[in-house]
Amino acid sequence: MCIFCKIVNKEIPSNIIAENDDFLAFHDINPKAPVHILAIPKLHVDSFHEVSPEMMAGLTSFMQDIAKETGIDHTGYRIISNIGENGGQEVKHLHFHVLGGAKLKWGHFSDSDPKNMI
Ligand code: AMP
Repeated sequence: MCIFCKIVNKEIPSNIIAENDDFLAFHDINPKAPVHILAIPKLHVDSFHEVSPEMMAGLTSFMQDIAKETGIDHTGYRIISNIGENGGQEVKHLHFHVLGGAKLKWGHFSDSDPKNMI
C-alpha cells in the first residue's frame, strides 16, 4: 500500500485540513510555501495521467474550497501536479500541491535549454 493510501486509512498520521467521502487534504510535511497543502483522492490513482474527468471535477471543487478555507483565494495561489519521472513525482498516488500565502517564484524548471527542444 502506498504512503498516501496509508494516510487515507489513518495508518500513518497527517495534519488533515479537509476531508469528504472522496478526497483528503493535509499539510505537506516539507512545505515549499507558507501554505502548502496536498489534495488527494481517497481512491488510489497513480497520477494525473490516469485520473478521470469525473474525479477531476470533484477535486477541482475540493481544491477551490481549500483555497477559500486557508484564505489564499483572494491573494492567489498555485496548483501543481508532478507526473512521472521527468515531472519529478516522488509519491505515486495522484496529488495536487496547493501553494500560496506569499508571492511564489516562477523560475528554473529544467537543466535543458528550452530552445533546443522545439
Ligand atoms: P511529489 O514530488 O509531487 O510526488 O510530492 C510529494 C510530496 O509529498 C512532497 O512535497 C513531500 O514533502 C510530501 N510528503 C511525503 N510524505 C508525506 C507525509 N507523510 N505527509 C505529508 N506530506 C508528505
